[in-house]
Amino acid sequence: MSHPLHCHGFGCRSADLINAHFIPQAFARQIRKSSGGSNTTASELRFTRGLQHGLYDNAILCADCDGFLGREYDDPAFKLINSLSVMVFSAPTFEIPNVDCELLCTFVLAVLWRCSVSSRYELSNINLIGYTNPARMVLWHAMPISNLRAYRVLCQRYYSRPGVEALYSLPIPTRFQLEGSEWRGYVLPLVGFGL
Ligand SMILES: [Zn+2]
Repeated sequence: MSHPLHCHGFGCRSADLINAHFIPQAFARQIRKSSGGSNTTASELRFTRGLQHGLYDNAILCADCDGFLGREYDDPAFKLINSLSVMVFSAPTFEIPNVDCELLCTFVLAVLWRCSVSSRYELSNINLIGYTNPARMVLWHAMPISNLRAYRVLCQRYYSRPGVEALYSLPIPTRFQLEGSEWRGYVLPLVGFGL
């Protein structure tokens, strides 16, 4: 007996699913522009030039829920990150006043959540496990992001070098030391930034 697929959006039972991109297509377009047209779309598990606007899944979201995430997080986060990418930073550490950190954090969460609910092979190494449902509640404003106590976002600006601005990948699992503790997380490269 097969179970019909339905949308993973909060409280949504729609079975009318669309192609939902894990990372907004605007990033892939921007990266293609700066890389002169050729763009290697990749997850850690797959490299291809065949998906110029990035990887998507046709089994996770309906048009309404995909549109909601786009309006709330993807579109404003692209504008924000793209505006930061033209800034020149002279010191290794930098501070930009009045950046909407909550938007950056929820946007990264939206990317990770979409990857986490997907059963595509390319995303099989990304899983929020017990945080999948709380993350969805945060994205649909059913819970404040401050309730996700173990969730942190670090922002790194890559030094401008040929190829760096053109890096495109789905989140890559990583482990790192921070303030004496070992953290498990993901790196998400976006137009010259790593989040
Ligand atoms: Zn939906």
